[in-house]
Amino acid sequence: MYSLKKLLPLILVLVLIVLLTGALVFFMGPKVGINDQRIDVAVSVLPQAQVVERVGGERVRVTVMIPPGKSPQTYSPSPEQLRRFAAARLYFKVGHPLFPFENAHFDRLIKVNKNILVVDGGECGKLLPHDAHLWLSPGFVAGHVRLIRDALIKIDPEGKGFYKENARAFLDEIEALGSELKRRLGPYRGRKFFVYHPAWGYFAREFGLVQRALQKHNKAPGPKDMERFIQELKEENAKIIFVQEQFDQRHADIVARAIGGEVKALDPLARDWLNNMREVGRELEKALK
Ligand SMILES: [Zn+2]
Repeated sequence: MYSLKKLLPLILVLVLIVLLTGALVFFMGPKVGINDQRIDVAVSVLPQAQVVERVGGERVRVTVMIPPGKSPQTYSPSPEQLRRFAAARLYFKVGHPLFPFENAHFDRLIKVNKNILVVDGGECGKLLPHDAHLWLSPGFVAGHVRLIRDALIKIDPEGKGFYKENARAFLDEIEALGSELKRRLGPYRGRKFFVYHPAWGYFAREFGLVQRALQKHNKAPGPKDMERFIQELKEENAKIIFVQEQFDQRHADIVARAIGGEVKALDPLARDWLNNMREVGRELEKALK
C-alpha cells in the first residue's frame, strides 16, 4: 500500500499538467479556431468589400482582386491573389459584360473550384449597356446586401441570425443614405453634371440627374469632342468637371481653364462606400447650386 504522503507529489504533478494543458488550449485554441473557420470571400472592387464585411463581420475574410489605385481595365491579379481566390468559398462579382476583368481571370478558376458560390451583382437591377459601375447605385447595393446575406447563410447556416441582423442594420443605413441623396439632389432633377470618365450612370439614373462625360468608350477625347464639351458646360453655366484618380487629368484641366471653372475628384472606388456616397451627394449638390 502506498501512503498518501508518498502519492501527494505525484498527484500535485498530475494536477499541474492538467491545469497547464487547459491553459494552453484556452489561450491558443480559440484563436486558431477562429482563423480556420473564417469564410474566405473574394470581391472584384473595393466598395464591394464593405457589403461583405458589414453582413459577414468577423465570420468572413475578404480579398479584393483590384487593389486601391489600380484600374479594372489594365490590372491582372497577383499569384497570391489567385491563390486566395482559389481558396474562397464565395465570389461576389460585379456582373456586367463590360467588366472583362472578371471573366478573363476567374471563369476558369470558378470551373475548377467546385466549392465556390458565385453571387452576381448584375442581377439586382436593370443594367445600363455602357456602364459597369453598378455599385454606385444604392438601389443595386441594397440588392447586393440581400444576396450576400443569403449566400453566407447557405455556406454557414450557424451564423444565420448574425447575418440577418447585420444585413438589416446595413439596409437601414442604405435607406437613410437614399433619403439623404434624394433630399440633396431632388431639387436638381433633370440637370446635367460633367465628368471625365462615365462612372456615374447608375447614380444619375437613380437620382434623376444627367451625366455628361468627356471620355467615351475608354478613349481620350479628340479636339472636336473637347470643343463640344466646353460649349455644353458653358450653356449649362457649369463650373465643375469631376475626375477620378485612375485617369489622366489633362483633358479635364483644359476644360476647367476654358470655362473658368475647376476640376474636382469623385471616387467611384472608395472602400468606405457608404460615407463616400454621402460625400458624392454633397459634392454634386454644390456643383449643381
Ligand atoms: Zn470606370
